[in-house]
Amino acid sequence: MAHRDGLILLVGVTEPRLEAHELYRFFHAGDEEVLALRGVSLSADAGETVAVVGPSGSGKSTLLACLAGLDRPDGGTVRIDGLSISRRSEADRAAIRARSVGVVYQADNLIGHLTVEGNVALAQRLGGSTRPRSRRDLLDRLGIGGRARAYPAQLSGGEAVRAALAVALANDPAVLVADEPTGELDSSTESQVLDLLQDRAEAGTAIVVATHSEAVAVVAQRVVRLVDGMVAA
Ligand code: ADP
Ligand code: MG
Repeated sequence: MAHRDGLILLVGVTEPRLEAHELYRFFHAGDEEVLALRGVSLSADAGETVAVVGPSGSGKSTLLACLAGLDRPDGGTVRIDGLSISRRSEADRAAIRARSVGVVYQADNLIGHLTVEGNVALAQRLGGSTRPRSRRDLLDRLGIGGRARAYPAQLSGGEAVRAALAVALANDPAVLVADEPTGELDSSTESQVLDLLQDRAEAGTAIVVATHSEAVAVVAQRVVRLVDGMVAA
């Protein structure tokens, strides 16, 4: 990667695909204020995998929701390919997200009354494209080509994660944000999913993945540790 970075610097394109600067997020629960993010900065370049680790409640999911444009930080900025998303309306963020950001949740992002292929097709339509051939290719590459017509409830845990990944990758996103995607998988299924993430990174996607898993942190180029809503030194 080092020589490639050098080359990129030479041609003057130094912008990370994903850049978060000084993110703050507060929640109010009754009288109490929870400071979920307190000045978190993070960036991910094309082809880079960044793991976000930290104890439960440290702000991982809140951070990823802000990075994906699902949530809006109370302070700070998120840029995707240089475009600031954090000050935009929900509708604008949804449009940018549909085009440029793939999102995988632990409790997956599949719609129950659509088949696996139908879920991917919907994501493609929302992202402004319909590509039936690339859809089948994508499912084949993820090893679930044979499950295209299955409904989410009929999938095993590993298949469901792969289907969620297919939805996230439906539009070849610049950025993939995954919140504990391998949280409920056995280790061999986990390593298959990690291989798929690595393939994606090699194709130029910037990946941010929140995880409790050592295996995920090991394949990442960088590990960002959150404690109480701050990046630990
Ligand atoms: P993690 O994913 O690391 O477990 P979260 O980002 O889910 O952490 O949560 C960080 C903190 O913010 C926790 O104290 C959590 O209770 C609080 N929090 C998260 N979302 C909300 C919300 N919608 N309303 C109130 N508090 C929230
Ligand atoms: Mg979480």
